Amino acid sequence: MKLTGKCTKCTSEEVYSNRPEGPRGERAVMAGPGGSISTRLFIEVYTCLECGYFEEYISNKDLRNEKKISKIKSNWQRVKS
Ligand SMILES: [Zn+2]
Repeated sequence: MKLTGKCTKCTSEEVYSNRPEGPRGERAVMAGPGGSISTRLFIEVYTCLECGYFEEYISNKDLRNEKKISKIKSNWQRVKS
């Protein structure tokens, strides 16, 4: 959805995102087992206006921010298959 602009559920192309320029939409994230993480991450939202499905991603910029990511790694649990 993020890459294709197509809804992964209904295949509609009515996909919109808040992916922005500025820090608008930034929000604090999230409680983990070790309490809430004080790091703020920008969350990109992709939503299908046909069926209402939506996905969320951490922005690429934050994903490459080692400080923020190491905080997540040390506070959250890795999901194992
Ligand atoms: Zn859809």
